[in-house]
Amino acid sequence: PDSTSPPIDSASSIDIDQVLEASLAEAISRRRNFAIISHPDAGKTTLTEKLLLYGGAIQQAGAVKARGEQRKVTSDWMELEKQRGISITSTVLQFDYADTTINLLDTPGHQDFSEDTYRTLAAADNAVMLEDAAKGLEPQTRKLFEVCRMRNIPIFTFINKMDRAGRDPLLLLDEIEAELELIPWAVNWPIGSGELFRGVIDRRTRNVVLFTRAERGRQASERHLHLDDPELPSLVEQELLDQALEELELLEAAGAELDLELVHAGELTPVFFGSAMTNFGVRPFLDAFLEMAQRPVARSTSEGPVDPLRSSFSGFVFKLQANMDPRHRDRVAFVRVCSGRFEKDMTVRLARTGKSIRLSRPQKLFGQERSVVDDAYPGDVIGLNNPGMFAIGDTLYTGSRVEYEGIPCFSPEIFSWLRNPNPSAFKNFRKGVNELREEGAVQILYDTDQSKRDPILAAVGQLQLDVVQHRLENEYGVQTRLEPMGFQVARWVSDGWPALDEMGRIFNCKTVQDAWQRPVLLFKNEWNLNQLLDDHPALELSAVAPVV
Ligand code: GDP
Repeated sequence: PDSTSPPIDSASSIDIDQVLEASLAEAISRRRNFAIISHPDAGKTTLTEKLLLYGGAIQQAGAVKARGEQRKVTSDWMELEKQRGISITSTVLQFDYADTTINLLDTPGHQDFSEDTYRTLAAADNAVMLEDAAKGLEPQTRKLFEVCRMRNIPIFTFINKMDRAGRDPLLLLDEIEAELELIPWAVNWPIGSGELFRGVIDRRTRNVVLFTRAERGRQASERHLHLDDPELPSLVEQELLDQALEELELLEAAGAELDLELVHAGELTPVFFGSAMTNFGVRPFLDAFLEMAQRPVARSTSEGPVDPLRSSFSGFVFKLQANMDPRHRDRVAFVRVCSGRFEKDMTVRLARTGKSIRLSRPQKLFGQERSVVDDAYPGDVIGLNNPGMFAIGDTLYTGSRVEYEGIPCFSPEIFSWLRNPNPSAFKNFRKGVNELREEGAVQILYDTDQSKRDPILAAVGQLQLDVVQHRLENEYGVQTRLEPMGFQVARWVSDGWPALDEMGRIFNCKTVQDAWQRPVLLFKNEWNLNQLLDDHPALELSAVAPVV
């Protein structure tokens, strides 16, 4: 070596921390995470398939369902799912598209939805509200929207099934504004509808995308041209174009602006029109969504907001799933990564207990398929083996202590006695009920009369009750009987037993207690609840269980 060469310039030596920070920032800026909220049959599965197609994650449409077939082989507790033709598990689908890593948090799409559906939204940075153009807002969409609103999640609206006769697009926008108090802003506007759905006009660029139906299984072709292109009139019926332009003028006259800050605050929803089935308008939607969607942002913790750029890893458990693979009788805890870089074999701390845990086999899930992950970034979801040590809402972290805001319980609407007709199975029965409660599968209440020790299952959807029964039988060997109770509303008494004692006898309501011996009132309907509140205006009630 040349002895005259200068010593290494310290200013040019690479600072490892800076490199790590830059790569973390880069990974975060490339990530988008969302969940689809919709009513069954609006087309969520179909839209998901089409989105994955653009991500190149699957080769042909139909693969989402094909994975469903494989599922039967790997999991027999999914019998229930098979019998009822529904999807119980909700996991995450990760795919890359146009330099972006997209995490699609899959919420189960059945009427009988469960608390899991709500909890998944706790891990989502954005929501896509999917509507059927012929139906507009439907009950389950409204419920899920309320959860998004509570958390100020940005909402993007996709109005689906435009290839079929539907409602007037302007009226669909009015409905969103009037009923959800959410300002709709159509990003693109349909040219024609039903058989005559020809394409969409991008309102910002005045570019037109025309669709041509594709053969089965192939991607529809799109033609892009400007609204002023002289060729346009020869490609689309003039009346359809005139009508679309007229409607666009009405929208402009209404005057709202596409303000991204309002979008990110969950107050304004960009709206898109399309047809998932024929793959019309899906790509324009995806492109605009990725441009406008919220990146992983700071989240509230006991120590104030934590930025995703915080160099130490942190995240929280939003869902537990038992026995995804019955051969291993395993349990998986789904963790939303919130800050820092997660690495395989990392040792993390569990905020609730302070225990250190080495995470040696973190998994990435793609539907039911799993592979071991080496690393993950804010916005991603990882699956951890969970031999009973994690609970819903748990925070995992490295570095200084943080604890994310818990995931709220939801007010149960369905109540049923759970009977165990076989006294010799009592031990297993009690163990199973307790474990399923801890896991968050269902809420459990008890009669105040000590002699009636059978638990009351309290859930937001019937599905949860069926799952509990099924799992008690398959995992704990206990056959049970459900005995529905005629209640629909539950309220926790904020000031506990003394407040109730003061009131004396209460009518049209049943007093029970939760697993922490706190009083809960059950009502047949809202009307009975309001009656009680009229009679006792000082009484403070809560629709959800207070955090323990
Ligand atoms: P999910 O219950 O929301 O997952 O709905 P699916 O994706 O399973 O769709 C429900 C039904 O609507 C299926 O028969 C689909 O083929 C159909 N469907 C979905 N998207 C469209 C669409 O854009 N146009 C039409 N005509 N039918 C659709």
